[in-house]
Amino acid sequence: MSAEPCFSASGQDSDFKPITFEAKPNPELIIKSVLEHFTYLKFRNSFRGIDNYNFASPQPWSSPCPICDGKHGNYGLHGEWYGTEYCLTCFTSSNKFRFAIVA
Ligand SMILES: [Zn+2]
Repeated sequence: MSAEPCFSASGQDSDFKPITFEAKPNPELIIKSVLEHFTYLKFRNSFRGIDNYNFASPQPWSSPCPICDGKHGNYGLHGEWYGTEYCLTCFTSSNKFRFAIVA
C-alpha cells in the first residue's frame, strides 16, 4: 500500500522491534523514548523537524553506532519522521534505523 522509506540497517539488532504508537507522539515523547533506548545518546536540539542527538560520552564509547555499527567520533545521530515512521540516521551511512512507527 505504501512505500517503506525506512529500512533496517546492516548493523541493526535483529531483535529490535520498532516502538509502536497508536497516534503520532509529541516530540518530547519520541525524544524521551530514543534516549531511554539508546542510553549513550543525549538530546542536542531540534531544527526544522529533525531531532539531533549526540553521543553522551567521548570515544571510545562502549556501544557502536546503532545504524552503521561503526564509530564516528562526535558526530551524532538524527531522528526524523518519514511519514508514519520515525527513523534515526547517521552521517556515515545511508541506512535508516526504524525506531518507531504509528500504527
Ligand atoms: Zn553511524
